[in-house]
Amino acid sequence: MREADEYIRGKFEEYYRHNFGRVRPPPEMEKREFGFLLFEEGIMIRHKAFKKATDLQSFIRTKVPAHVYNSTAYYLEPDQEMDKKNWQGADLTFDVDADHIDTTCKDAHDRWTCKNCKTQGKGSAPEKCPKCQGERIDGEVWVCEVCLERAREEVIKLLGFLTEDFGFSRKNMTICFSGHRGYHVHLRADEAKSLSSDERKEIVDYILGLGFDPNLHTDLLDGRIDPGIPNIENQGWQGRIHKGIYEILTETSEDELVKWGISRRIAKAISNKRDEFASKWIGEQRKIPPDGVGPTTWKAIIQKAVEEGSAKIDTVVTTDVHRLIRVPETLNAKTGFKTVEINSIERFDPFRDAIVFEGEETVYVRDAPQFRIGDQSFGPYLDKTVTIPSAAAILLVAKGKALPRRD
Ligand SMILES: [Zn+2]
Ligand SMILES: [Zn+2]
Repeated sequence: MREADEYIRGKFEEYYRHNFGRVRPPPEMEKREFGFLLFEEGIMIRHKAFKKATDLQSFIRTKVPAHVYNSTAYYLEPDQEMDKKNWQGADLTFDVDADHIDTTCKDAHDRWTCKNCKTQGKGSAPEKCPKCQGERIDGEVWVCEVCLERAREEVIKLLGFLTEDFGFSRKNMTICFSGHRGYHVHLRADEAKSLSSDERKEIVDYILGLGFDPNLHTDLLDGRIDPGIPNIENQGWQGRIHKGIYEILTETSEDELVKWGISRRIAKAISNKRDEFASKWIGEQRKIPPDGVGPTTWKAIIQKAVEEGSAKIDTVVTTDVHRLIRVPETLNAKTGFKTVEINSIERFDPFRDAIVFEGEETVYVRDAPQFRIGDQSFGPYLDKTVTIPSAAAILLVAKGKALPRRD
């Protein structure tokens, strides 16, 4: 085992020795498959089943896994091989991950290396190496406050879709922070459990706004709009698109519009007319497209409004009806944070609410960006030995930014 893994495993062992009783299995746990990724390189234990929470908890205490998962699915025989499990249904599950959100800070804190030709780059890892076309690429990502905040906003949008558009109750939803770069929403309504993979894909497409074609929406393309319909107040996509257009016309800077491919002349015309748009957009005088905006630009704006209104969910997690997903109150070896069930997404702070380790540790930091744990800010560090709170030290070691120092 690598020195860093050995160190993290030691910390996890200590944590689970005292806190194994906190691990929260999902409802109907006896019908779930459980999976465990161990610190010992590449060892995955799958197809495990537990009748009681205490059985799962003692297993975790004994094995001290790096990652703990349960199936979103319900099976008659969860401990059998995949094709003999007898699938009974699955929670409708959503994953919102910073990996799928475009943030400009990624260029500063994420890196990738092609395993084949060793080419390196900044930002998110590409699907193929631009130099050798190889697909084996190592990504190095950071748990960035800005990225996580954007992910949290996407979760709030997702909850809007699920409650307002689909009519699900918040009571049937559990929201978790993954302990790394994202959030999971587990929808456990009976109507959703039996949905097939294709049916789940339809839901995903709706939430992502996929396949929307402005040319098919003549009400959006020309003419004066009847007061009252459709507008920002409307439910569903209609309201989202109108709200998006309003925000684009009244808030987006000239430079930003140019970045989207709108000509400088038109971008300038739009930003010069902001106040006029703001006063006319809500009310009877609204005319679309507004004067000075041609049909091509208008369609680009509508498309952008759709993008802004969508919630950036991971398609695969929702459509895979055999997915394994993290168990609440277990630790994530990518950070040392815990996967945590969230009471209020509006008030949730991952850098406070997912922290478990107390005390202080001394570590040698090769290089780390600035970050926050609770109310305290750390770094940036370069080639430095520091004594810092354990949660911060474990995060740096887990992320490969620091090495434990043993005197
Ligand atoms: Zn390459
Ligand atoms: Zn970031």
